[in-house]
Amino acid sequence: MELEYRRRRTRVFRFVMLCALLPFGLEMLFVYVSAPPLLLSAGMAATMIGIVASNVYIWRVWKCPACGFKLWVGGKGTLGGKCLGCGTQLYVPRRSKSGRVYP
Ligand SMILES: [Zn+2]
Repeated sequence: MELEYRRRRTRVFRFVMLCALLPFGLEMLFVYVSAPPLLLSAGMAATMIGIVASNVYIWRVWKCPACGFKLWVGGKGTLGGKCLGCGTQLYVPRRSKSGRVYP
């Protein structure tokens, strides 16, 4: 289960990078080189579409591999690495010296 969860998370991150950050980076480049307005608005549209697409992707994919519980709910669908829906251990939380828990 842990492996499956990590695989999903990596996939989500990669998709968000590709769909939202890449067009955004291009848009910044366009602004930097002062590209024509048509190109700028096209870049802006691509960025918007990318953000919406990555949101939809997260909504569809980021769920518990065991029971399908949506893990993005309120930004914390897990408690101490356990799924709130079925209690499966999805990952082992790492603790820093200050006691902070990283997902
Ligand atoms: Zn679950």
